[in-house]
Amino acid sequence: MTQSSLIVRGGTVVDGTGGAPRRADVGIRDGKIVEVGTIGWRADREIDADGLLVTPGFVDIHTHYDAQAMWSHHIDPSSWHGVTTTMFGNCGVGFAPCKPEHRDMLVKLMEGVEDIPEVVMTEGLPWNWETLPDFLDRLGERQLDMDVAMQVPHAALRVFVMGERGFRREPSTDDDRRAMARLTAEGLRAGALGFSTSRTLFHKTLKGEHTPSLGAAEEELAAIGDGLRAAGTGWMQVITDFDDPVAEFHLLRRVAERAGVPMALTLAQREGKADHWRLLLDLIEQANREGVPMIAQILGRPIGTNFGFEISQHPFSERPSWKAIAALPFERKLEILRDPTFRARLIAEETVNPVQKKRLNTWDRIFVLGDPPDYEPKVEDSIAGRAARAGVPPAEYAYDLMLENGGKTLLYRPITNYVEGNLDVCGAMMRHPNTVMGLGDGGAHYGFICDAACTTHTIIHWTRDRTRGPKMALPFIVKRLTREPALAIGLNDRGVIAPGYKADLNVIDYDKLRLKPLEVVYDLPAGGRRLIQKSDGYVATVCSGAITHRDGTPTGELPGRLVRGTQPDARTAAAAD
Ligand SMILES: [Zn+2]
Repeated sequence: MTQSSLIVRGGTVVDGTGGAPRRADVGIRDGKIVEVGTIGWRADREIDADGLLVTPGFVDIHTHYDAQAMWSHHIDPSSWHGVTTTMFGNCGVGFAPCKPEHRDMLVKLMEGVEDIPEVVMTEGLPWNWETLPDFLDRLGERQLDMDVAMQVPHAALRVFVMGERGFRREPSTDDDRRAMARLTAEGLRAGALGFSTSRTLFHKTLKGEHTPSLGAAEEELAAIGDGLRAAGTGWMQVITDFDDPVAEFHLLRRVAERAGVPMALTLAQREGKADHWRLLLDLIEQANREGVPMIAQILGRPIGTNFGFEISQHPFSERPSWKAIAALPFERKLEILRDPTFRARLIAEETVNPVQKKRLNTWDRIFVLGDPPDYEPKVEDSIAGRAARAGVPPAEYAYDLMLENGGKTLLYRPITNYVEGNLDVCGAMMRHPNTVMGLGDGGAHYGFICDAACTTHTIIHWTRDRTRGPKMALPFIVKRLTREPALAIGLNDRGVIAPGYKADLNVIDYDKLRLKPLEVVYDLPAGGRRLIQKSDGYVATVCSGAITHRDGTPTGELPGRLVRGTQPDARTAAAAD
């Protein structure tokens, strides 16, 4: 690192513990915080934080930058939103372990599950690894704008061990399970922070093949749990639909209990199963009371898909006339979309698949995000509400709206946590002691979801801007974005502003903090497309004592590294010295 000392002077420190804000200088040497208070010495570099907020860097434990970290030094959009540590390898998907002959299968899976274009993965990834330890070694050579951590992804593991049989979701044999357990332990010993799996029907390839880990038998998960137990570290991250919540929960609880490590479950309110989340939180609470550490991983807003003629999904994207033109360049599609005959035909067609129809054509849950984007919009301002006031059918209203601004208008479809048409559900989840913030999914769903800015949104919405219900205290929210997620994954060395801790900080102009509208850009390898979202108000972001971002712009400093394994608490470590 080029500089050895830094002082952030005179800011209002919200230190990540939940304690009251206080005015203090923060002194940093060699990547660690050395002093908090009134500092008499001068540093090589200083940041004047008078009137600004100083928080720990945010820890985003649920992203999918597995690929992006290999081709880019910048883990954005997350790094534009104060994140200084992220963990990927979530939801059972990733690119390691992977034998050369299985690459196509993992690419197809990531293309479908995470909407990363195939060419981006084939051209953007060096594929110079096979085992998970190899992958960690390659990742360990990367210089990044934030720290990164990895998990052992079940789908990759299953295909690595079972090949085609694993991809086709055939049952594992005893030998397969022993191999998976051994490789999981090997991955954890090499520095992965956990194991992840997906049991959701929504994760599939573009051809509709379900993710390899779907329906993996309890014996398989239990065997992998034995691998975790043997390694004596890590956690299990699980996403499942909980269609039969009690039975599925108890299966997972048995696995967690046997593995002897904490288990994190993705929790969101689903349409049609609007009360399951409460039941699941009760079950999680009970498990903790009975000594089985389980935690719900939540988001402070809906998981939201975006719709538009330039991106992967929109209300007409599953209709035949659209499919016939979907592969054309955007400009050519625009010409066709402006043709009244085509417009009439596309609007008259139906979305046949009932699941797709519900997602794409539920007009009273489709909104305009606006500028600044509103993630708690009123149902009366939905496409259904607006169309009724305009006296036109909602499909026509949506079509014409999306054609505005050169066809670039984006719509927002909250697919979870929005059954009641407000975010009270998220508020209740966020106040619950057995939950941890996550699910921003940065680096994934490039063409229709962009929740990576959820750190910024959580702060501005829940502590400052919310008008439709109670807000929460800033120190509580900062703790939820820093110390708590860090502790959940065993990174005890960060997330607090106190001497001895890692010098990961944000200096924030709280009054000016805002989200910018979503944008579509073509900056992935091979010109691949993605949705991004920027922000205003981050005056500086500091990782390991180096300033990585100044006023929203990367400085070029790349102090971020792979974090291997759990990290001791700074204070305990200091006491042991
Ligand atoms: Zn995920």
